[in-house]
Amino acid sequence: MKLAFIGLGNMGFPMSRNLVNAGYCVYGVNRSKQREYEFEKAGGLIGKSIKELANEMDVIMTCLPLPSDVEDVYLGEEGLISNGKEHLILIDFSTVSPNLNKKIHHEASAKNIEFLDAPISGGTTGAEAGTLSIMVGGEKRTFDQVLPIFNILGGNVYHIGEVGNGSIIKLINQYLVSVHSQAVSEAFVLAEIAGINLDLLTEILSVSYAQSKILERHYTNFISINNFQPGFELGLLHKDVTIVNEMAESYQVDMPLGNKVTELLSEALESDLGKKDMSAMIQLMREKLKIES
Ligand code: NAD
Repeated sequence: MKLAFIGLGNMGFPMSRNLVNAGYCVYGVNRSKQREYEFEKAGGLIGKSIKELANEMDVIMTCLPLPSDVEDVYLGEEGLISNGKEHLILIDFSTVSPNLNKKIHHEASAKNIEFLDAPISGGTTGAEAGTLSIMVGGEKRTFDQVLPIFNILGGNVYHIGEVGNGSIIKLINQYLVSVHSQAVSEAFVLAEIAGINLDLLTEILSVSYAQSKILERHYTNFISINNFQPGFELGLLHKDVTIVNEMAESYQVDMPLGNKVTELLSEALESDLGKKDMSAMIQLMREKLKIES
């Protein structure tokens, strides 16, 4: 199988490198060329345009930051669908709306191109280790064809029915991640002001009902060392909960916490925290209370 991977970022780079290490020939494309050179050093192939790849590859994967990037790469004139050959398989790992997945699927089907939405969870550590959770929507037959690829990238791979269903589950995950992130930020700021040792707090919460992956991740990898290099950018979490809110609205489901967290994430972006890890929500709480970190 000839493979290509578009979007060699925090997630896409380690994912595509794992495919190279597993013995696949993988072409890489990234907006900033430095990443492509690093991919070449890691054993990947570079130098082909998206248009050329669409016509030559068997499977093309994408892991792109924003819905607008996904639209450009899939639906643009120089993009994957206009230039794709019949039976090409396209897999999108990006977090976008189920409606965008369906729009891409509709255009792809008209040209006999297969499309799977396959959002991921597990962070950069999961991407490095090949232990991501992958939630896949689309034809089961196509899913089965690319399952060996998914099994290299992920430890928990699920097929969940029609195109868009992977995104619905991923967005529900992101809703919970955002609420937990805000809850952790408030809890730690309260503990700080009350004079509680945060190492001890985390140790106790981790063996109590308040235990959560987000609590442990945010404290251990970021808050405790006061380093908020991402990880998962806060700006991407803002993008995700904005999509969650739109999805909830389309189903006429009121999400009061989702709306509030989106408001707080917007404030964090205004405070220049967008490029920091999502655990930097605590910095917004500290700023509001004028606490030194
Ligand atoms: P990132 O910004 O680190 O990487 C995205 C890469 O895509 C960048 O290198 C960028 O240059 C490249 N790119 C953008 N537009 C392009 C284009 N038109 N053509 C080629 N390359 C292009 O983002 P990331 O953290 O890797 O996240 C990617 C997606 O995965 C997002 O949708 C995000 O929500 C999702 N995600 C991220 C994480 C995480 O922990 N970082 C976890 C799960 C899901």
